[in-house]
Amino acid sequence: CSFATSGLPDVRERTLIAIKPDGVQRRLVGQIIQRFEQRGFKLVGLKMLQASQDVLSEHYCNLRTKPFYGSLLRYMTSGPLVVMVWEGHNVVQTSRTMVGNTNPAEAQAGTVRGDFSIHVSRNVVHASDSVEGAKKEIQLWFQTKDLLDWDSWDQTSNDDV
Ligand code: GDP
Ligand code: MG
Repeated sequence: CSFATSGLPDVRERTLIAIKPDGVQRRLVGQIIQRFEQRGFKLVGLKMLQASQDVLSEHYCNLRTKPFYGSLLRYMTSGPLVVMVWEGHNVVQTSRTMVGNTNPAEAQAGTVRGDFSIHVSRNVVHASDSVEGAKKEIQLWFQTKDLLDWDSWDQTSNDDV
């Protein structure tokens, strides 16, 4: 029999995850990264930065009319962020599940927000909400040259090592 190739999982899907200023302040960076590594996703980009109003107003352009928009921008500029790109099969949707409900009061235990936060105004982490949205966010926060397309050693020969 011949194998169909069309149904293979897209292992190259990418998403943008950001640890917000409260996550950095509370020393949660390591624990959050650990969850994504442990799940099996591949880290292809990582940086720590102080976000500008310009990038944030683009990142949250769909929320400009919300009453909390001003406080959201103050929150997101209140300290450094750790911004990452993670890659793997279904990473966008799986990350949203791992991060949990936007409102921590509704987030399940076992999710990042459900384990580390209590209020929507300080919910520790950002995760892209769609594959298309992730592409735009990754372009906004990263230059292509800063995303590393590295091979997992479990998929290559070790003859030369
Ligand atoms: P997310 O995709 O789960 O992060 O949720 P949204 O895209 O709807 O909102 C973006 C971010 O805005 C959230 O993660 C919160 O940090 C913030 N936010 C959303 N709703 C509220 C709210 O009602 N009040 C406040 N203060 N912040 C909110
Ligand atoms: Mg969102």
